[in-house]
Amino acid sequence: MSRLDFLTHLAQTSPEPLLLEIERAEGCWMWQKDGTKLLDLISGISVSNVGHRHPAVLEAITAQLGKYMHLMVYGEVVQSPQTMLAKRLSESTSGVLNQVFFTTSGGEAVEGALKLAKKYTKRSDIVAFRYSYHGNTHGALAATGGNWTKHGYAPFVPGFRHIAFGQEADFEWIDHKTAAVIIEAVQGEAGVRSAPNAYWQSLRAHCTAMGTLLILDEIQTGFGRTGTFWKYQTLGIVPDILISAKGLGGGMPLGAFLAIETIMGVFKENPVLGHITTFGGHPVCCAASLATFDVIENERLVEKVAAKAQRFAAQLVHPRIKAFRYEGLLMGLEIGPFQELKPVIDKCIELGLLTDWFLYCDDTMRIAPPLTISTDEIDFACATILTALDNA
Ligand code: PMP
Repeated sequence: MSRLDFLTHLAQTSPEPLLLEIERAEGCWMWQKDGTKLLDLISGISVSNVGHRHPAVLEAITAQLGKYMHLMVYGEVVQSPQTMLAKRLSESTSGVLNQVFFTTSGGEAVEGALKLAKKYTKRSDIVAFRYSYHGNTHGALAATGGNWTKHGYAPFVPGFRHIAFGQEADFEWIDHKTAAVIIEAVQGEAGVRSAPNAYWQSLRAHCTAMGTLLILDEIQTGFGRTGTFWKYQTLGIVPDILISAKGLGGGMPLGAFLAIETIMGVFKENPVLGHITTFGGHPVCCAASLATFDVIENERLVEKVAAKAQRFAAQLVHPRIKAFRYEGLLMGLEIGPFQELKPVIDKCIELGLLTDWFLYCDDTMRIAPPLTISTDEIDFACATILTALDNA
């Protein structure tokens, strides 16, 4: 295996891939082919919340492999990992969103949530937000508001309108024709942008008044990333549909969307089998997810997020840092235009620290480590970033 084979035979998504060759990963670290190691400050983009190859996750995967892998398409056979996980997810919302539809990815979960909202409300229009990111499948792409990654893929799924995130004046576009509003709990790829609780409560009230479903994308913010299990738990609202993926699988591919049974029930008939998937909720991935829940609880990871974020904030002080926006361990360090930021990122990698930038915010360094990161590792990460800022 060589970099040449990678470049020749793997579909490329950018002219300049990172090209790191990782042989092994464990906890917060990745070991390269040349023997050097990298501290993972981005968790495979908010996936490895419990670190790489957590022993409890590995054990659960191995145990499930000893029983069965794929049995049948989603929704027909009672598979205990799926059922137990659905119950656990429902409990994580205090039983309010009591049914779960599993998928294999975040984008597929977004598609399902949008279809569910259309079918339930019998409406076709969707309101989404500028600079949002919801995935690359066609419906998710139409919902995505970051325009430059959409170039070349028109025509988009019709019926979508994008409004400004955090601006109540734009609620005028949410009306009796709107099936759903789809929104990230924190805009991730926009560079960690939040809205105040008053905004969320007003959005919730407006959606309820219009009979519009509120779809909350917690693909990046869920599973403890921001310091509560779900971000919505701090916003004083409950969404109608909650979307999860990334950290949900503990490193395995898994997505899900949750809703109350009265809403989810419309998938059941008229037509029957109108929304299905082959691999959604793969039993091995569900077993990994159940173990991930256990790890988060047993290691009290959520409770420790705020202090860890504070430790980053206290140390990341440098004349080149323009701003530091963070929601728990979803953090963005604003440094300056990409031509200034990229050499800092490259220097960090050279010094043993893996980080990158945000899709719609290329003046800001992404910092989203595994929630298991230790204080020593945080100190190493901060010292490395400061050295890189001095030297790049
Ligand atoms: N929504 C958000 C907020 C995301 O961050 C992502 C992935 N970056 C997605 C949706 C799409 O998830 P996936 O890549 O698994 O399709």
